Amino acid sequence: MKYLALESLKLYLDFFEKEDIDVDLVRGVVAVFKDMKDAEELSRTAGGRVLDGKELSEMGYIGMGGGVYVEHEISINPLKLYRGLRRRVEELGGRIVVGDVLGVEEEGREPKVILGSGKRGCDGVVIAAGSRSGDLCRSISYDPHVFPARGIVALYDTAGEKVVLAPALLEDYGIGVAQHGSDTLRITGFFEIIGHRVDGVQEDLEELISTAKKHVRGLGSLRLRAFGMGFRPCTADLLPVIGRIPGTKNIYIATGLCRLGVTMSPIAGIIVTSMILNLESPVKPVILNAVSPSRFIHRS
Ligand SMILES: Cc1cc2nc3c(=O)[nH]c(=O)nc-3n(C[C@H](O)[C@H](O)[C@H](O)COP(=O)(O)OP(=O)(O)OC[C@H]3O[C@@H](n4cnc5c(N)ncnc54)[C@H](O)[C@@H]3O)c2cc1C
Repeated sequence: MKYLALESLKLYLDFFEKEDIDVDLVRGVVAVFKDMKDAEELSRTAGGRVLDGKELSEMGYIGMGGGVYVEHEISINPLKLYRGLRRRVEELGGRIVVGDVLGVEEEGREPKVILGSGKRGCDGVVIAAGSRSGDLCRSISYDPHVFPARGIVALYDTAGEKVVLAPALLEDYGIGVAQHGSDTLRITGFFEIIGHRVDGVQEDLEELISTAKKHVRGLGSLRLRAFGMGFRPCTADLLPVIGRIPGTKNIYIATGLCRLGVTMSPIAGIIVTSMILNLESPVKPVILNAVSPSRFIHRS
């Protein structure tokens, strides 16, 4: 996973350099701990510069013991990335169709997408429906063993103020903090394995905010602009599921990226593209085997 994530970061930087997409890119992320010993341990095993409580406080993180500044990691605004990618796809002549897909099937070599209005034949299909990917695979009797892990996001209006100097992960709580541009602070947290349930979000949000307020200076005085939830697509072995679905000729899947779907989407995209176009894979066979859809029980 670390290798895939690092490859993806390279692809992102290359991509942002070439394409005209502003994603509020910030280089360098801090792993923050209550206990300095945990920071020292992380730095020893994974590298990165150790920061003490005073340095963290200067960055906007208070009441924490130590941190590790990881220079090569990046932070981006996912909403701007989504909008920028969508614009570029359309500029390049691609057509984005929004609508529910009910399932897929294959006759000979031709896959078909099942829509409410009927079936549509395609050259190939890539199932990338996140935590719902299993629903789409049911019609071809494949189970990618993907389950949803619910997370919560809170977006604050910073009104031009720089609240934190670097994005951070508050490791003891699993809370992410990132400032996007001059006006947005994004706080994320929770990893709940409760299916696609949508109740209890308000309670989760209050807990997230209450914890974040203790460690992000000035958060209490910011305006909460929006909040929401999302379902990370995770697998039992926490590895992605990328490749051709066993027993099919032209139906692929790319999911299971769990906590790192934004980080790893470039490499996941290139892996699946190389398979469809019969090109040399960007990763070694051992990695392709690890993420292979055939590792799960399939086709009853
Ligand atoms: C709170 C939170 C914080 C996160 N923070 C980070 C982070 O800091 N870094 C990181 O790398 N990742 C992060 N993630 C994880 C990341 O968001 C996911 O890994 C990523 O979104 C997965 O991408 P995906 O395209 O596989 O699935 P999704 O983003 O879920 O997209 C799947 C799409 O398929 C559509 N779809 C589903 N079913 C159908 C259907 N039947 N027909 C048509 N369309 C369908 C959905 O509407 C959706 O648009 C976070 C997630 C959460 C919830």
